[in-house]
Amino acid sequence: MEYISTRNKNLSFSFKEIFLRGLAPDGGLFIPKEIKTYDKSEINKLQKLSYIELATEIISYFCSPEIDKNNLKNLLKKSYKSFQTNEVISIKKVGDINLLELYHGPTLAFKDIAMQVLGNMYEELKLSSDKTINIVVATSGDTGSAAIAALNNRSNINVFVLHPHNKISKIQRKIMTTIGSNNIYNIAIKGTFDDCQNIVKEMFSENAFREKINMSGVNSINWARIVCQIVYYFYSYFKLDDEKVSFAVPTGNFGDIFAGYIAKKMGLPIEKLIVSTNENDILEKVINTGEYKPGKVKPSLSPSMDVQISSNFERLLFDVLDENDKKVSDLMNDLKTKGSFKLNEKQTAIIKKDFSAKKINDQETISIIKKFSKDYNFIIDPHTATAIGASKVVKDINKIIILGTAHPYKFLETIKIATSQELEVPKQIAHLMDKKEKYDILDNKITDIKNYILEKIS
Ligand SMILES: *Cc1c(COP(=O)(O)O)cnc(C)c1O
Repeated sequence: MEYISTRNKNLSFSFKEIFLRGLAPDGGLFIPKEIKTYDKSEINKLQKLSYIELATEIISYFCSPEIDKNNLKNLLKKSYKSFQTNEVISIKKVGDINLLELYHGPTLAFKDIAMQVLGNMYEELKLSSDKTINIVVATSGDTGSAAIAALNNRSNINVFVLHPHNKISKIQRKIMTTIGSNNIYNIAIKGTFDDCQNIVKEMFSENAFREKINMSGVNSINWARIVCQIVYYFYSYFKLDDEKVSFAVPTGNFGDIFAGYIAKKMGLPIEKLIVSTNENDILEKVINTGEYKPGKVKPSLSPSMDVQISSNFERLLFDVLDENDKKVSDLMNDLKTKGSFKLNEKQTAIIKKDFSAKKINDQETISIIKKFSKDYNFIIDPHTATAIGASKVVKDINKIIILGTAHPYKFLETIKIATSQELEVPKQIAHLMDKKEKYDILDNKITDIKNYILEKIS
């Protein structure tokens, strides 16, 4: 598979290169040069496969020839061994909704599904065999712990995780700051998730620094993450066994829902992809009005969606603008210099064909959690609750799959407020609860972070 940048179609990269680099040298995002579309009979054949077999089919298309299909299958088996379900994910009927539970991995959020695979890909691609790799990752709460669980104790790999200080849940922080061993560094930045993400992106675009530390990234701008997430759109579609489905997705950086968009491009009959946001409603605004204008991040009850600069949206722009790399660069330049850009009516209409979007505020989130607990004796987490709220934009709820992105225990304070219930600690993380936390607090200054990293690896 050949890859290009959203800001320059003429540069060509291999899977191995885009995996290691994460971000294109021109600041753009990597995307495949072409995407295969399955016809109806090919899709029917996929229906019979187990999760691992299906994942092997879909993922191998994007990472061949560098990863051999048989090796990939073994890699996937190894990656999902620790999951607390037989088939990695599970789909349940709760009341009248179809809930896709994606949180049975080691750190209780959907991020584990891709991250466990990425962890093993570093070895498979022999990226860390000659020279130590330093992975720098920004997290709004769940990516960090998933990355640490996937990369803990690996030789020749260090992981630096930047999270916004005091802006993630206590349990999110606890998981992140207790599982790590010597190769893991947790940094609390005095700022927001957007600040953390900006620091990482900036470091990637500084060639000298990037090369000096042999830097790599596992944020959702890394295409391999998106690829792993395409699988469960197919798998859950097959389980529902309906002609057409829609998906409601709690959205922050536009990575997870973009995987659904790629599934649709590959031929999966998806009606609508429904974006749910919290008060950080930049995506709701751009989809409904065409204006993309990041504001200040507002802390909410769904902290993993507290994002204003939704990086993966650039990948959708590339399609909406007819793969015109120059136009993408111009809009991204507007964003940088003027602080916003605006899509015209025709472009917005193209987006609306595939996407709907709705904002769900904290008060609504609480009442949805409360209602589910009362009506069905079932506890959902605040992120999943926003998707349930947003799913109302489509009439027939039976044909919608709601992505359950995190285990409610990660947000037990909110669950307690909504339901007065104390949750039992899930067994994946029970052993971490008494362990001492380890993290350093730094100012929101890129030079401080760079010096910290240089000092730790010297
Ligand atoms: C990361 C995360 C999201 C947002 O996913 P994106 O791919 O960034 O859109 C939603 N819910 C939870 C629980 C998350 O951890």
